[in-house]
Amino acid sequence: MTTAPCDTAGWTTTAAAGSAALMETGDMETTLRGVGVSHGVAIGEVRHMGTAVLEPPARQIPAEGAEREQERARKAVEAVAADLTARGTLAGGEAQAVLEAQAMMAQDPELLADVERRIAVGSTAERAVYDAFAAYRELLAGAGEYLAGRVADLDDVRNRIVARLLGVPMPGVPDSDTPYVLIARDLAPADTALLDPALVLGFVTEEGGPTSHSAILARALGVPAVVALPGAGELAEGTVIAVDGSSGELFVNPSAEKRAELEAAAAERKAALAASSGPGATSDGHRVPLLANVGGPADVPAAVEAGAEGVGLFRTEFLFLDDSKAAPSEQKQVEAYRQVLEAFPEGRVVVRVLDAGADKPLDFLTPADEPNPALGVRGLRTLLDHPEVLRTQLTALAKAAEGLPVHLEVMAPMVADRIDARAFADACREAGLQAKFGAMVEIPSAALRARSILREVEFLSLGTNDLAQYTFAADRQVGAVSRLQDPWQPVLLDLVALSAEAARAEGKSCGVCGEAASDPLLACVLTGLGVTSLSMGAASIPYVRATLAKYTLAQCERAAAAARAADTAEEAREAARTVLSGE
Ligand code: PEP
Ligand code: MG
Repeated sequence: MTTAPCDTAGWTTTAAAGSAALMETGDMETTLRGVGVSHGVAIGEVRHMGTAVLEPPARQIPAEGAEREQERARKAVEAVAADLTARGTLAGGEAQAVLEAQAMMAQDPELLADVERRIAVGSTAERAVYDAFAAYRELLAGAGEYLAGRVADLDDVRNRIVARLLGVPMPGVPDSDTPYVLIARDLAPADTALLDPALVLGFVTEEGGPTSHSAILARALGVPAVVALPGAGELAEGTVIAVDGSSGELFVNPSAEKRAELEAAAAERKAALAASSGPGATSDGHRVPLLANVGGPADVPAAVEAGAEGVGLFRTEFLFLDDSKAAPSEQKQVEAYRQVLEAFPEGRVVVRVLDAGADKPLDFLTPADEPNPALGVRGLRTLLDHPEVLRTQLTALAKAAEGLPVHLEVMAPMVADRIDARAFADACREAGLQAKFGAMVEIPSAALRARSILREVEFLSLGTNDLAQYTFAADRQVGAVSRLQDPWQPVLLDLVALSAEAARAEGKSCGVCGEAASDPLLACVLTGLGVTSLSMGAASIPYVRATLAKYTLAQCERAAAAARAADTAEEAREAARTVLSGE
């Protein structure tokens, strides 16, 4: 087991990525290996993320089987309704009303009569449910805005009944009253809203790399995670596993000794970190503010607790995921923004305007027919095509910041060139925003011409996740190319250096808000390259703070030069480690 000290505990298992070891049967302890992306150890039972319900085949059943099939359908409906009601009682409040309404939908007498009619003429129970709900869905969709808004709830009820009839896991986040380790092919941002951090002990995904949204989410939740582990999907539901989010290892049926060993190492590391506090700085006092990446007000307490000096990336798109049809109202946005701004009264809060498209599509904004969504209309491009959405967001931000002493900064994702930067700055000025305007560097063109972009905006923020994706033409969601997503790639360091140098020459700031900032050793290298702040998931802040505090700025600069001189990510990491450890 790797018990790496915090200064070297990066996301280092890339070489092993994708090498799911043999999966033995029985109770023997087996080790699988993926890419560790969020520190810590999780031990618990496997629960799989249910996949989308497939359309059941249209099979004919003999007439004599109809009654039994109708009985099966009735029982499934009753069980789903009872389950929804029970979950509502448990949840209470607004959620209870929603779940009870869903239970009533499931038991709608007309819907049930339609299901029975369809079975009587030869349908299987699952197909009859599927078709009856489809007919009802059409009615609902055409019946005015309020009812149309219930279509998603209806689909969820249908999926639950069909899954029960087919004997497959319920779609979406598992239903469980006890904590579990979640296994999924990958996790979309839309799934994340449904996860209960009290129940999810850790994650394992088959796809994804260190910068995929599953990895980002795991860090935001502060739970251990391993990604790019093919074969994880085959682990039986309920199997006990131990996941080490530092080493990327997954132990199936861990022995008592192994559990104790993992838990002791995790506790030791946690205790060492608890001792670190205060603002981010090198050992010789060069300040590097450590900021938090947040997705909304819910992430703020963890950021404050971790001692974040502000927010370096507020991913506002999470506010837009609740409704697939429209943007949240100005008022709703004002409330959410204000909650985040109020949490850092004297601090700095960098809000990124909506980054929709590609891996974060929004039905009402993202074109459905793009051949290469990551290269299509996403980020700022989407907003320039929908200026009313940008205007509302900027106006909401201006209102949210009114009267607060906070240092508000607003930045645009996916800025390609000076024209983009100017369009964004113009929109901010038109909205009367009293804030600094900035551009994210996520496309190599922006890094290469950073100086020209800085003629229009006041700061840069490096989105190293997308910057790696676009530099290497390697989809950040595809586990098979996770090697190229490694932020230690020397060419990525070159682009960081170019951006930081341009900002320094212009007397402006250049932070990093991509996942690269959360790797403690790499954070030292980024500091040595000249970046002026580091923003990361709250759980990583203590690790980065503790590591940065061990080295001088000159040491960080030497480590950065050594890493840039390397040819591969592995060599760059090794070179930096050697410089910093003084070997
Ligand atoms: C990035 O690309 O590095 C970034 C911070 O943005 P996101 O991960 O949300 O695309
Ligand atoms: Mg990005």
